[in-house]
This record gives sequence, structure tokens and C-alpha cells, in this order.
Amino acid sequence: MNVNSLIKKTKAYEIFSGDKKNGTLSHATLIVCDDSELLETYLKVFVKTLVCDSETFCDNCRVCRLIDSKQYEDVKFYPENAKIVTKDIDDLVEKSYLKPLEGDKKVFVLVNAQEMNAQSQNKLLKTLEEPPKNTYLIIGATSTYTLLPTLLSRVKRLDILPFLDGDIIDALSDDCDDLTKLKSAVAVSGGKVSESIKKYQGEEIKEVENLVLNIFTKMKSSKDVAFFSSKINKENIKDVLGVSSRLVSELLRCKSNCVTKSTFTNIEAIADVYTVGALLHFSEKIREIEKNLYFNGNAQVASDSLLFGLLEGKYKWSK
Ligand SMILES: [Zn+2]
Repeated sequence: MNVNSLIKKTKAYEIFSGDKKNGTLSHATLIVCDDSELLETYLKVFVKTLVCDSETFCDNCRVCRLIDSKQYEDVKFYPENAKIVTKDIDDLVEKSYLKPLEGDKKVFVLVNAQEMNAQSQNKLLKTLEEPPKNTYLIIGATSTYTLLPTLLSRVKRLDILPFLDGDIIDALSDDCDDLTKLKSAVAVSGGKVSESIKKYQGEEIKEVENLVLNIFTKMKSSKDVAFFSSKINKENIKDVLGVSSRLVSELLRCKSNCVTKSTFTNIEAIADVYTVGALLHFSEKIREIEKNLYFNGNAQVASDSLLFGLLEGKYKWSK
């Protein structure tokens, strides 16, 4: 996975690297990103930027490599075990008074800081308020609900927003041979990389892709609705909608003779069956169903609205 390219495109990184360049880096930065599994990987990019001598970071020098393997003497990652406990913070506070061993700064990294209890957070406050010279804290959290206002007021907050689908595809395409499957996986993962990888590695997304293609090619009348409806359930409904939405946008692109090749095979044949009006109607319909599903969580209603909506659109906007 090409993490660097992904992170370097974020506003959070632009601000952070700009601050480094101008010598205005805050001693405590809170990086908020809802991907708990990849948080540490993302934080390493910021830590390397902070410590490496290159303008942003080289990702190649001894320091960068040691940070990646969490073995650089002047960068300490917490939690020591599964989650941050008071003992970790005691250790951090104690070590923050020691001089850096290798370079000119010391960095403490807290991963999944949202799990810290109030006692740990209170212990951290003094270090945040009066950090020992050349000491930096990079605090990563998936959300800020559990963080005390006193802590939040002492850090510079940077948010990593959900990534764009195209950027995730670029970052993962070297590791994922099946581009169609990757695109479907990303389309149903809400801009979250760990989710995209999980969907790509599972078999379900391929099944959903086939199901959606069958719905678009084989569903002829309301008699077929019961059959397809039985294949959709609360586990796969979100993915069915996500893949349908991607298929519809690729069909629309195909209709407009866009040169980018679709990853769905036989897309031209499917595009032949639908008019642009029908496709635009589907696209709007799918968005509406996704919104309703978000509020009422009823998979059956969503599935029926999708299937009947497709039939309705197909005939209403037929040639
Ligand atoms: Zn480097």
C-alpha cells in the first residue's frame, strides 16, 4: 500500500508539513482519523516528517526506517500493550525529561488515544502544557468524544477526512490485481482504507458484484423481483447499493463515450439496454434509498425500492 501518497494529499498533512517548514510546529498535535486499524501507519508518516532531516521526509534514511519499525531511540510509541493505560502515561512523563539520544528532538506517539481514561488524560495535561524542551507529542484518535476539554484545548487538531475513492484505488492498486473487485470494494467502504482491504480480501464483494450485474441484465419484470429480493439481506444491502451506484456511474460514462475503460466486462451491452434518463433516475433513486436505509435500517424496504425502482426507471425512460 502506498500510504505516503495517500497521506500527503490530505489537508492535515499539508498543514503539518507547512508548519515544519516554517518552524511553527505545535508541541502537541492531535490527529483525528476514524480508521483505527491504520491509525498507527498514518501517524508514522507524520512522525517521519517531524524527525527526518529532509524537507518533508525521505522514507529511506536510517531514521525513517527505524521509525517504521518502531526502533528509533527518540520516538516512543504507546500503548505498550493492547490499549493505553496509566502506566504508559507515567512512562511517557518520566521519559519526557530525558535528553534525546540520537537527534535533537524526542517524540511520543499515542495511538488510539480515544481509549485513554480520564486519569491518564489528566496525567498527560502537565506535559501538554509545559512540554520539556524539544519534546513533541503526536496523539492519534479515531474520535474526540472521550477526550477531556482540557486536553483538547492544549493540542493542535488536524483531521484526516475519508479519502477519495480514486486515491484509495491508486494507493492499493499495486497490491491488488483484480481492479474490478478493488473498485467495488472501495466503492462500499466509505473512504476507509482498512475497510477497502477487508472487502477486497473477502469473497462477498465478488458475489455482490455478480448479483448486481444479474439484476441489471436479467431482471425483466416484477415476477423476477422476489428471486433477487431473496438474495439481498441486511448483511449485504449496503454493498449492493454501493456497487449498483458504481455500475450506474460507469454506465453513464459509457453512454457519454468517455474513453476511460470500465472495469465491468460487457458494460457496452448493459449500457445498450438503458437510456441516459433511466440511468440518471437510478442514480438519484440509489442515493435516496441509501439515505432512508441510514435512518430506518430496513434492508427489506431498501431492497424492494431498489429492484422496483430499477424496473420502473427502465420502462418509464425506455427508448
Ligand atoms: Zn528520512
